[in-house]
Amino acid sequence: MNIDDSGPQTDLAHQTARIRGELSDRLLRSVFWVGLLVVPLSLTRALSTGWLPLYSLHLGVAAVFALFFFLRHRVPGQYKAIAAFAILFAVGVVGLVNLGLAAPSLWLLVGSWAVANALFSSRFATAVGLAIGAALLGVALGYTTGLLRLSLDLNNYVTQPSAWATLLVGAGGFVFVTFQALSTYNRSIQAAAEDSMRQWVEGLPLGVLVLGTDGHAYYGNRRLQDVLGISLQDLPRVREGSVCDALGATVAGTTEHYPDARWPLLRALQGEESSVEDIEIMRHGELRRFRVTGRPVRDAENTVIYAVGSFEDITERKNEEVELQAAKERAEAASVAKSQLMANMSHELRTPMNAILGMMQLLHQTPLTQRQQDYLRKAEEASRGLLGAVNDVLDFSESSSGRLGLEPRLFSSAALINAVSERIQECIGDKAITFTVTCDPAVPKMLLGDDARLLQVLSNLGSNAVKFTPSGEVAFSVYVLQKDQDSVLLEFAVRDSGIGISATDQGKIFTGFYQADGSSTRRFGGTGVGLAVADRLMRLMGSSISVSSALGVGSTFSFLLRLPVATATSAPSDGSGSTAGSATGPAVSSSRVVFPLPEGTWVLTSPFGMRVHAITGE
Ligand code: ADP
Repeated sequence: MNIDDSGPQTDLAHQTARIRGELSDRLLRSVFWVGLLVVPLSLTRALSTGWLPLYSLHLGVAAVFALFFFLRHRVPGQYKAIAAFAILFAVGVVGLVNLGLAAPSLWLLVGSWAVANALFSSRFATAVGLAIGAALLGVALGYTTGLLRLSLDLNNYVTQPSAWATLLVGAGGFVFVTFQALSTYNRSIQAAAEDSMRQWVEGLPLGVLVLGTDGHAYYGNRRLQDVLGISLQDLPRVREGSVCDALGATVAGTTEHYPDARWPLLRALQGEESSVEDIEIMRHGELRRFRVTGRPVRDAENTVIYAVGSFEDITERKNEEVELQAAKERAEAASVAKSQLMANMSHELRTPMNAILGMMQLLHQTPLTQRQQDYLRKAEEASRGLLGAVNDVLDFSESSSGRLGLEPRLFSSAALINAVSERIQECIGDKAITFTVTCDPAVPKMLLGDDARLLQVLSNLGSNAVKFTPSGEVAFSVYVLQKDQDSVLLEFAVRDSGIGISATDQGKIFTGFYQADGSSTRRFGGTGVGLAVADRLMRLMGSSISVSSALGVGSTFSFLLRLPVATATSAPSDGSGSTAGSATGPAVSSSRVVFPLPEGTWVLTSPFGMRVHAITGE
């Protein structure tokens, strides 16, 4: 595997020191060669011009260059760097002061500045830049004001070929040195950027592998080593088409080799981005599960040049998922068993309860004393309450297991409304509640639907309205919102002026076993499943119950229901099912009256008072 050896382990400081050391060496070598060429030229010029002091200086500098060159292996890197910089800077400034711009001094100074940038801190480099600027300005001013004078005759200087040659060699050499320094500077910046990138990639909690189009792995971060369990150097060479062999990857849960066609890194080399979670790799003798992703890296021409893959060890997560799934299945099984038990128990309770109620009714027909009648009435009320609770629980468990069904049939709307009203009336008993029923005269006489379930839903809403209204009003209404030949859209509503429900509780009361006020169970009684069953029934009928309520003001529960209208030829139900009352004649019971009144006007009584609500007929 061809992972870059200088790779992740090499830190920036080490790299930078290496780059700087190389540059110092190269600089010293360059100045040595420049010096070597300049020495004979300087000698020639010293002899031909007689400017011995100047060329002695040249010779001196060249000698220092040579000395450093020979000593370079003994001198520590830092001193070599200082020497290279100091030589360039010092010779540059001396040349500038003596000869102005007529000497290669400017190049030496530019070279020294480039070297300062490449070898020292940016703050030092800035200081050098400022010093050079000041020197240039000072020399320019010195020569213009006459404070500085050329130390030799330039006419003579420019006519000397050896002088030209020295200038060319010196300037050329230092141009070369400058470029060397600049390229090193560039490499240092690049190394710093690469180092930051590497640190980012190293910091990832994922193993990262970069694969070239030739199948070689070009880079792998340290985490990759951890997750794969082998060192990067020991990783076998990953060739295209044998990735799975190289890593020993298998399809999760099998011994089958992971197919190359599904391997995200290979797909990435084809230009596709993908990820899989079903790879297993043996690590330290233990089979670990991985999420592997692959993404192509493209060049400016959009050609794929690398595939970047990530390896995430998801063994623990997968184990947790499996455990969670098993726990969920266990919980579901327990819940089904509980519902089944509830359904069985409710069935078992319902049969004797019905028998008890039947017997009580028979008992009514026997001669009883006033006191016995009172006891019987109370026992009957309690039994009905118990039967209601049992029915609610049975319905709830049936609806939870999806067994709640509808039995649509033709029914009389008046019979249904009467039955609902009668139930509400029964609940009111001698409570200080005014009860109003409003029925739109446009409600068709015969409808098709499950009237027994509708009665159950409306009775539940009505009994709740009465239960949660200590005194005040309860109103039941049915309106026609839309009507055509085949169907009618009805709005059923039960309104009360009771304790109301807070906005937060309004969203929860349909979930089952939820009671807005924990204490209300004791204060008002109830199982907390009535509304859940009612809502599920309405959903079966293609509707849903909505509530609007304000604490202390009251509540309105309503639903819209589209029902098919029965034709004249349809045989009407006799209303004798679970709906009480009759569509055709008044039903009179001992304590209340149910009125199938002329269309448009309905009157109901309650012991608390009487309300007449009239709607003009069609
Ligand atoms: P139950 O009445 O048996 O407790 P329900 O499912 O019928 O169960 O109602 C759930 C809860 O919704 C009730 O306990 C009560 O807190 C709240 N609630 C229902 N109807 C009304 C109402 N008309 N006014 C105030 N609260 C109501």
